[in-house]
Amino acid sequence: MSCPRIGFALTAVRDALNPAAFFSEEDAPRLRAYRVVCALAVVLIPCFGLVYDITSPGLRDPLWARLGVDAAWGALGVASFWWERVRTHMRRLMRILLYVTTAWIIGLAWINGFHPDVALGLLFTLIVVMVSFSMGLDRPAPLGRFLAFSVGGSLAALALTPPRPQVNPFVFGLCITGAALVFYMTSRLRLAIRKRLLETERRFRTLMDAANDAIIVVDAETGRLVDANDRAEQLTGYVFDELQGMHHSILQPVEERAEYAALFFREKIHEKPYLGDDLSLVTQTGEQVPVDLSVSVAEVDGGPLVLAIFRDVTDRKRHERQLVEARERAEEMLRLKTDILNNMSHELRTPLTSILGFSETLAEDLDGELQEFAEIIHTSTRRLRKTLNSVLNMAQLEHGDPTLDPAPMTLADEVEEALSVLRPLAEEKGLTLRTHLPAPGAQARLDEAAFHRILHNLVSNAVKFTEEGSITLTVEADASEVHLRVSDTGVGISDDFLPHLFEQFRQQSRGFGRDFEGSGLGLAITKRLVDLQDGTIEVESEEGEGTTFTVSFPRQRVEEGAPGPEETADEDGEARLPEVA
Ligand code: ADP
Repeated sequence: MSCPRIGFALTAVRDALNPAAFFSEEDAPRLRAYRVVCALAVVLIPCFGLVYDITSPGLRDPLWARLGVDAAWGALGVASFWWERVRTHMRRLMRILLYVTTAWIIGLAWINGFHPDVALGLLFTLIVVMVSFSMGLDRPAPLGRFLAFSVGGSLAALALTPPRPQVNPFVFGLCITGAALVFYMTSRLRLAIRKRLLETERRFRTLMDAANDAIIVVDAETGRLVDANDRAEQLTGYVFDELQGMHHSILQPVEERAEYAALFFREKIHEKPYLGDDLSLVTQTGEQVPVDLSVSVAEVDGGPLVLAIFRDVTDRKRHERQLVEARERAEEMLRLKTDILNNMSHELRTPLTSILGFSETLAEDLDGELQEFAEIIHTSTRRLRKTLNSVLNMAQLEHGDPTLDPAPMTLADEVEEALSVLRPLAEEKGLTLRTHLPAPGAQARLDEAAFHRILHNLVSNAVKFTEEGSITLTVEADASEVHLRVSDTGVGISDDFLPHLFEQFRQQSRGFGRDFEGSGLGLAITKRLVDLQDGTIEVESEEGEGTTFTVSFPRQRVEEGAPGPEETADEDGEARLPEVA
């Protein structure tokens, strides 16, 4: 005998004594179980034969049949190590051998006239075969067929035994049928439970894989990944098999590992998930993906498992960066705009003041046509200054930081005071300016300059858009509000134009042939000033009948004589707003 053969034989013996070496790590558990059945059959079949030979020497037991069945089991077990085809068809081959073995045992019982020892062996074999058969079972039909074959075959053999069997056929039939039925029912039950478990697992897996976020499950004791969903594979670039068993720290940047560990491994299992942001996940290529992390810890089968959900926030981070940049640019533009506004305000108002002053002097000193020209220059410059003031005020209200200085004021007093400027405006056009002040003490907390600007805008519009009739200023109050009402008997506002009334540069009559001069900014400024002081403005108008604007502010009761800020007004009586901040 050559040395390699001795070596092979020794290895085979050692392997036979060591069941772990009998299997390969890659083998599926079911294949391993099949091999165990083969090994058991190979050992048990000759053993039983030996026992029979010793205890019941008179029994008929053809050696060729016993060795043939035994060899078939051995061959199947061994072949499963070498041939892929055998492994692929293992389940079917096992079934064939189980049928063959059963047939052989039934045959043995029959030729021995159902000797009690053999009948007992047949019962035992059938039970063992049923267990083996059900191991590879996914559905109950094959087991049903096998039970029908084995029970039917046994009973048929019993019936055909001449002249009369050595066991009670009734008791034997009852035992074998009862065993088969019980076994069939318990197998069905087991299959139903298994099916339900599989469905639950499949549903859980489908949901996990459908999640938009990457989910990984880490064993809190070993720190190794035990599960991961599809999204985790996509995000990390690792396949499931690589992720499984991987230490969680491989997915984390070195500088963030301490933070991750603090999130993952906490002493107590908290009810609420722990959230982490500004973290990164290291992919298979070494790239770092910014993520938001939500961690929960759960006790599963007695051991804590960490469920970590990663959300890829690459897009959100990019948008945030873009937003910050855009805000910085906008702030820069705003600063620039404010500078321009302040410069413009100074550069344009100064020469205009000179033109106004000198044209007035010229108009006084000159005669005839030249005096007329000087007056036109003066009027046009006043108009220009008014427009300029409106544009600058609007810009200031829109883009600057208008610092209003609210103080308690009695609205009726303010209206009375403003009449000295407003009445001449009305009288110039032959209109009557009336006041109706039923709430003389009603007070509100307002910026004085802003209130006068509102009043002036509304009254000058009323004068501008009224050809004959009157203008009425009313101050009323209820429990919570103070109302300033400016009514005129002028041209009114069309229903179409009303929704656009407070928009900038909007005028009812448009184009160069407009009926009324103006910049279209007065009401926009008014509305903004009212809003800034928590007020509301409403309008009612009938074309050809007249218009009523109602401005309301929260009412406030304050002590008498509280001083308000000093009003600043230009020559046109327009209250000037504070400079742009
Ligand atoms: P402007 O008076 O400089 O044109 P406003 O913003 O003050 O600008 O007014 C916008 C438009 O609203 C006016 O052009 C006019 O068509 C309409 N309007 C405002 N007040 C009245 C009013 N009392 N009667 C009729 N129309 C008015």
